Amino acid sequence: MTCTLRKYAQDAMAKAMQSGEAALSGKITLVQEYDKDIQAGFLMYLPVYKKGSNLDNSRDRALSIQGFVYAAFRANDLMDGILGTMFPEINFEIYDGDFVSKENILYDSSIKHQNINIYKKTNITMNEHTWTLVFKTNSVLGSENIYIIFLIPSLVLILTLLLYLLLNSLIETKENALKIASKATKKLHTSEERLRFALEGAGDGLWDWNLKTNEIFFSKRWKEMLGFKEDELDSNLDEWNKIVHPEDLEQVNADIAAHIEGKSDVYKNEHRVKCKDNSYKWILDRGLIVSRDIDGSPIRMVGSHSDISERKQSQLKIEEYMRIIDKNVISSTTDLHGKITKASTAFCDISGYRKNELLGKNHNIVRHKEIPQTLYKELWETIKAGNVWQGEIKNRHKNGSSYWVDVSISPVKNEKDEIISYTAIRHDITDKKRIEELSITDRLTQLYNRLKLDEIFAMKLATAGRYNTNFSVIIIDIDYFKLVNDTWGHQAGDDVLREFAEIIKNNARETDIVGRWGGEEFLILSSDTDLDGAIKLSEKLREMVSLFNFSFAGYKTASFGVSSYHPGDDEKTMVKRADEALYRAKENGRNRVEAENY
Ligand code: GH3
Ligand code: MG
Ligand code: MG
Repeated sequence: MTCTLRKYAQDAMAKAMQSGEAALSGKITLVQEYDKDIQAGFLMYLPVYKKGSNLDNSRDRALSIQGFVYAAFRANDLMDGILGTMFPEINFEIYDGDFVSKENILYDSSIKHQNINIYKKTNITMNEHTWTLVFKTNSVLGSENIYIIFLIPSLVLILTLLLYLLLNSLIETKENALKIASKATKKLHTSEERLRFALEGAGDGLWDWNLKTNEIFFSKRWKEMLGFKEDELDSNLDEWNKIVHPEDLEQVNADIAAHIEGKSDVYKNEHRVKCKDNSYKWILDRGLIVSRDIDGSPIRMVGSHSDISERKQSQLKIEEYMRIIDKNVISSTTDLHGKITKASTAFCDISGYRKNELLGKNHNIVRHKEIPQTLYKELWETIKAGNVWQGEIKNRHKNGSSYWVDVSISPVKNEKDEIISYTAIRHDITDKKRIEELSITDRLTQLYNRLKLDEIFAMKLATAGRYNTNFSVIIIDIDYFKLVNDTWGHQAGDDVLREFAEIIKNNARETDIVGRWGGEEFLILSSDTDLDGAIKLSEKLREMVSLFNFSFAGYKTASFGVSSYHPGDDEKTMVKRADEALYRAKENGRNRVEAENY
């Protein structure tokens, strides 16, 4: 024995004797008897006391000591046998003590990575002896940080467990020693608890499952997390199954089975567990099989669970918000060609389509024929240039009806600032539009009312004045309308007004604004139209009216008065000249078009 070895052995024995627990020595060098393979290792000493001795304090323990059970462990054999093939991607080194140096290295898994980019250091302390573990890995694994974050605690867990198993096996093989030192065994139990306490340092709950007997050890922290005391709950699988939320149990079992069958490197599952007060808590449960039979069937699985209620709560909150948004915000995303890639439930509701009827279709599926092409052209130009388009659009419902939305369409860009899709968010303004429409529509004829005509008139005048463009006004009055009322009744008169409105509306040009001026008088505002153009239009309409056979009144005619914009004109002056022309048309025999005298 070298000097160091003797000193370490003596230290460990003294520690074991005084504490009444297994003690580990510092790093020693062990020479293999057969092949002269020199390895670093350590010694483990377990004190054996005289039967019936009082072991309350260190002095009593020193007096009652009968001897030691000890074992020497060669680090390389130990680690290679148990860990070497388990985590091939990780290079780890074990150092004796709480610092890293060449002198105190116990073990090196010797995987030489070229680009070592993850470096983690952690300590394990058992029976007052500290080891330092250093983990390194290459860039391949580095891209999956999550993986290594889990692997390292697992490795620490396994190493700690390994030492714990070594301690136990040492005791078991020396049955006689155990008999002699029944009290020491009790003490060992304490050290086992201490081990578990050490394991729980991270604040996670631990479980240790014997798959042969289905006994499960649940650590104190494991129970605490669920509000149980240490001596509560039975230590078996049934108890565990009762605690897992019934809705989650199937997936938990499936994930465990997958790990047992070697389909997953680790068992990992997020699920709810029942607390003592019957409330449920979200946990992240992880586990590893640490030993198997010769035939491969699992014997033992250890794992930990951590409380993720807070994260889960915020995750569930976010999911709930997303559901609320999905239900209430009319949104959709399209690709660069307008093909729908996403559609919210609210979008489905307002458009009348199911999600699968929208996805993959072009967005013009909801296009309404009343919305002019020019608006879509402007919309696409805006968003293609990377800008947000905002406006009110009438859309077509699946059943042919319509709805109005206030829409904001934004381009979505990637990190290279290239547009990859467009997202539209809308809100339903159908009601608002309906009220708006009511306020500007004449109830009887559905044409614009006087209020709206005045508003448009002002706009047209401003445009004509500013851009020096043509603008004409036509006033139409039905001839001998009073006769209709007098002969067929007011209702028949109303029908004539409705039919008359239809004729004018359908035969005017798209750019003409047609409205009811009052009573049986109608007004047409014609942009970009000079006097001749307006006369031609009036002639056409006059003829259409005269050829129409009205439901009650039969054939009726109308008279037309036309005026055109001249600089300085306002609504009053233009209407006055058109009215004068209309008067002349009546004077000159009706069913006529007369133009202004200017
Ligand atoms: P003229 O050829 O000179 O225009 O003869 P007219 O009979 O058409 O005379 P006028 O334009 O003065 O008559 C307007 C009549 O239109 C008076 C009114 O009773 C009727 N009238 C106005 N508004 C309505 C309406 O909403 N419904 C019905 N049924 N009649 C209306
Ligand atoms: Mg009249
Ligand atoms: Mg009239």
